[in-house]
Amino acid sequence: MEKLSDDAIIHQEIERVTDLIKKMGGDVKHKTDEHVALFPATNNTVTSHPGGLPFNGESKKITKLGSRETKSENTVVKVGDIAVGGEQLTIIAGSCAVETVEGTNEGGRLLQMLGADLMRGGAFKPRTSPYSFQGLGKRGLEILADARELIGIPVVSEAVDPENFDLVEQYVDLVQIGARNMQNFSLLKRAGRSSKPILLKRGISATISEYLMAVEYIMAGGNYNVILCERGIRTFNDYTRFTLDISCIPELKLQSHLPIIVDPSHASGRRDMIIPLSKAAIAAGADGIMVEVHPFPDKALSDGYQSITFEHFARLMKELRALAPAVGRKL
Ligand code: PEP
Ligand code: MN
Repeated sequence: MEKLSDDAIIHQEIERVTDLIKKMGGDVKHKTDEHVALFPATNNTVTSHPGGLPFNGESKKITKLGSRETKSENTVVKVGDIAVGGEQLTIIAGSCAVETVEGTNEGGRLLQMLGADLMRGGAFKPRTSPYSFQGLGKRGLEILADARELIGIPVVSEAVDPENFDLVEQYVDLVQIGARNMQNFSLLKRAGRSSKPILLKRGISATISEYLMAVEYIMAGGNYNVILCERGIRTFNDYTRFTLDISCIPELKLQSHLPIIVDPSHASGRRDMIIPLSKAAIAAGADGIMVEVHPFPDKALSDGYQSITFEHFARLMKELRALAPAVGRKL
């Protein structure tokens, strides 16, 4: 039998995958001799295939939904009226966890005055120890949503499992999936069926390809509004909580069209590093930052040691405003 050329094999494979996707109810939107972009019509069945396809052992030939090869221009994700990923930088600020009505309302008002675009606050906290404060649950979401109504600032909070996703989704403008859940595939699939945008944090030991594959789980379900978030990875260094992977910012920008937010609070675990790391992130091309702020950091119920005060936040904003034009951004 005549031996097929590499190109012919790839071509044959592309035809085979295209047929497979169509049979599974998917829709192939973009097809070249090199790439097949997958836009599954309904669920995620199709996404389990690309990684497993032979393609001469080169499964990378399959273009992913979050990839620059699928879409060359930057994606701007709308969260309420806020556009994330455009020229304007996005600032997300607030306490690690929602604690009190007064603190959330007053804090939110102050943060907005100082220039925050979104307010953060965890209601379901994925804590290392089961004996630590676990968050106020549904009450926390109610407090956050009330503050949004009162102040007019969009809010973000974390969903920790597919069951409480339904609840979180009802109350917030942006649903966060935390680092520890980056590969919680049932949670990712649930996020893929959501009409709300998703902030997907990078896992503490995740490679960039694992991270971008986790993104695919959400996009393959039909939710294209995904915001990336680098929050530090585990390394051997022992002077910070994690290590902010600055180089992942240009790499993610190269590989993906999705916006990237950097979280210097969890990355460093040190309030004295928030300003320098935020500036480094913006200089490296991040689309914004997410930072923990608390009126009395030493009294915070979680992550107080990495939380900054409102005065410190004001200084951070001043320094970022000075930096932004130098890297072609607005703030
Ligand atoms: C958080 O942002 O509240 C949080 C728990 O972060 P991470 O998932 O990055 O640890
Ligand atoms: Mn925290």
